[in-house]
Amino acid sequence: MFGELLEESITCPYCWETIDLLIDPSESQTYTEDCHVCCRPILVNAFISNGKAIIQVTQEDLGF
Ligand SMILES: [Zn+2]
Repeated sequence: MFGELLEESITCPYCWETIDLLIDPSESQTYTEDCHVCCRPILVNAFISNGKAIIQVTQEDLGF
């Protein structure tokens, strides 16, 4: 449905815990999200294709 957020599970690149992200499926985006477990900044790249999200994550200071 238009405007609905996608819930995607990712693995934190610092602590390796699984956390859930809410992704806006209307456009591809790169942003920083603090890990819910260890609070360190995760760089998130969400590539949106046909309403589905392909998620890449890395440590913020490493970049893509
Ligand atoms: Zn973490």
